[in-house]
Amino acid sequence: MLYDRDAYAKEFIAKVISCEEAKKDDVTAYKVVLNHTLFFPEQGGQSSDIGTLDKTKVIDVQIENGLVYHYCTAGFLIGEEVHGIIDWEHRFNNMQQHTGEHLFTGIAHNSYGAENVGFHLSDNTVTLDLDIELSEEQVDFIERKANEIIASDVEVKAYYPNQELLGAINYRSKKEIDGPVRLVEIEGVDLCACCAPHVKSTGQIGMLKVISYGKYKGGTRVYILCGLRALEDYNRRMKILASSYQKLNCKEDELPDKIDGLIEDTKQLKYRINDIETGLLNDRIETISPNLTDVTIFVEDVDTKIMRDGVNTLVERHDGLCAIFSGNDDDGYNFVIGSKSRDCSAIATGLRELLGAKGGGSKQMAQGSVNATRTQIENTL
Ligand SMILES: [Zn+2]
Repeated sequence: MLYDRDAYAKEFIAKVISCEEAKKDDVTAYKVVLNHTLFFPEQGGQSSDIGTLDKTKVIDVQIENGLVYHYCTAGFLIGEEVHGIIDWEHRFNNMQQHTGEHLFTGIAHNSYGAENVGFHLSDNTVTLDLDIELSEEQVDFIERKANEIIASDVEVKAYYPNQELLGAINYRSKKEIDGPVRLVEIEGVDLCACCAPHVKSTGQIGMLKVISYGKYKGGTRVYILCGLRALEDYNRRMKILASSYQKLNCKEDELPDKIDGLIEDTKQLKYRINDIETGLLNDRIETISPNLTDVTIFVEDVDTKIMRDGVNTLVERHDGLCAIFSGNDDDGYNFVIGSKSRDCSAIATGLRELLGAKGGGSKQMAQGSVNATRTQIENTL
């Protein structure tokens, strides 16, 4: 493969070996095989290169039964000569992320004995899975060390060693592979079997930032971003931060305290609203004649706990069915019903059968919600 020899080649001339119609994401595409290619196919967790063959778009590249298929938006004649151009911005970005992954994993391997057990590189995320749990301190150390090695601009080499040398040296991802093994070496930092294109020195990674990490299948999953992707992510976060502290009219550093204050204020307001609602409901209950057996009260938007307390007060004073409905005819009502003498769970069942209400409870108390008008509810009760 051409990408194997020179990760920096952007254009090539090739001959069409075969071309057949195929579906790609429900859209008609053409699967094209070339005599050689610069397009890196999706493999090893890394998404494929994209680009063009002549003026036709290459939207995906896959290996199927050992052949590299270019999924194109138009077809070609067999034997035709085509001019291929890979989307360099996309490719270089992938090279930065992938070499960054080697760097991070290499340091984790050397410092803590971690082995890479998974890698995923798409246009949106870069994750690497390690087989040990890393602490915050260890992740910070690896990130810092990685950026120091980026600043030192260490050479990155890719080569096929002979069998003798291969057997004698130690490298990551050492397993039985058919055919020649390609090694990618970051001098003094990492040596790993890998088939993907890489940047030629660590300086070209630009920077490496850990976005997040967490426990994963007994080890650690780490999200990283390199190069311009890291800068774009930084800018995105800065915008979120700036809009937050501007809205809250404070300085960036004051944001956590400001948010704590708002959470506390909201809590206090909820307590006050509860107190006021409880007071209003109790005042209303006071006005109801104690001679009534059944009592139903309709209120607007009262907390369920306050409704329950209200029903408890009503049940002490009235022997029949005591009910509070909170809501309005358009949005429906939440309800709490209680009684000393009547079976509330049976009444809730009745509301379910007649009005399609939801909920239930015990003989003494039931609660739920119903999408019906006040008149319908009153008639049904
Ligand atoms: Zn690799």
